[in-house]
Amino acid sequence: MARVARTVVVRSVRLPKKVFRIFVELEGMYRNMVEQLVVYAVRNGIKSFIKLRAFKYRELRAIYQHLPSHYVFTACQDASVRVKSFLRLERLGLTEKKYPEVRKISIWLDDHLWKPSGYTQIRIATHKGRKSIEIEPHKQYWKYVSRGWKLASEAKIKLDKKNRRLTIFLTFVKDVGEYEPEGYLPVDVNENNVSILVDGVAYLLETDTEKLVLGYHYCRKALQKKYDKLYGVKSRIKKKILRKLKEKKKKSDIRWKIANLIVRTARDKRYAIVLEKLGKNPANNMIKRIGDRQLRHRIFQASFKSIQKAIEEKAKEYGVPTIYVSPKNSSRLCPIHASPIKYGNGSRIGKCSQEGELWHRDVVACWNLFFKILRGDGSNAPSPAGYVLDGRVMPLPSTATHDPVGISKSLWARWKSLPQTQFATIINRMKR
Ligand SMILES: [Zn+2]
Repeated sequence: MARVARTVVVRSVRLPKKVFRIFVELEGMYRNMVEQLVVYAVRNGIKSFIKLRAFKYRELRAIYQHLPSHYVFTACQDASVRVKSFLRLERLGLTEKKYPEVRKISIWLDDHLWKPSGYTQIRIATHKGRKSIEIEPHKQYWKYVSRGWKLASEAKIKLDKKNRRLTIFLTFVKDVGEYEPEGYLPVDVNENNVSILVDGVAYLLETDTEKLVLGYHYCRKALQKKYDKLYGVKSRIKKKILRKLKEKKKKSDIRWKIANLIVRTARDKRYAIVLEKLGKNPANNMIKRIGDRQLRHRIFQASFKSIQKAIEEKAKEYGVPTIYVSPKNSSRLCPIHASPIKYGNGSRIGKCSQEGELWHRDVVACWNLFFKILRGDGSNAPSPAGYVLDGRVMPLPSTATHDPVGISKSLWARWKSLPQTQFATIINRMKR
């Protein structure tokens, strides 16, 4: 059983001035506590929330007598998270400040500080007693409620002072059991596609990551330069323009769509998903145009990992097992003969140096992931053509060109799961 958690954001109705003022006061006190705590923790090198609480509980409790005592606990938790990330930045030399700045505040609540009351109301403990707050549920909220997700005991609230509302961050949790896999579905994340291998057929789901990632990168840089010159580094107008790019949203849309498609395909077949373990500095073949190798690499690693992360998250939700294997040599060696594949200059098609059969680079990676998981040892021993698994012969024709089925984003983005092979093959033929 694995616990899956999702954050859902809901707003409260517009609150009466009197009630909202209580929350403004509460936020003020909470902020003071967090500010004191981070200074104390950094000064004394305390990272653990339990230690922090042990040292500071009595003192804070004495100062904020009217506040429910659990706010001291949650402020300690909040502060310890801030301190940890601050110390990490400090170690990397990325901050010049002595203490973390406490700017944005959301008030952390534990099970003593809030309770749902019915589905459209929550009760929050304050220094002026418990307050009932009406929330405005939305479609997504009802989806979680109706599909058997449960509310976790932690929540956060943030004050929307302009509209006199509370923004409430709820966490829904569900326990999902993984099934025993009856087969494997290897997934290889590349620069411009995500390739998967389903029952011996390779599919290249085109993502245009390169265009998306690099395009945005250069666009953002250019805009920044322009607006920095015109209005200074911290201008609001720059922020506004950059937000209009909607970079994050577009990227995450693609991520979740592809994750959904792959996970549903695996679930329908009761397969496990096999992914490459991405290290910190894996050898990579994707540095072409960008001058700064490091930078280009970093940009792509971040986006590869986030696709994998999305797949992993979705898989958890559906109880689909995921397995990571070493990416070593995954597109360099022939899956059948374990001899090097020679790729022409910049070509994705290569030739096996032993038997001369042709391979598509991304298909090679998928097959190698597949065999690595079957062997279970991550070695590169030759795999016999027609690998026998559970008495079944796995299809691996050694004479074919191993052509993948390429599917453009505009197509797969609308699918809920992978359609039948024939259909996809026809599309591919039409494209060529
Ligand atoms: Zn070969």
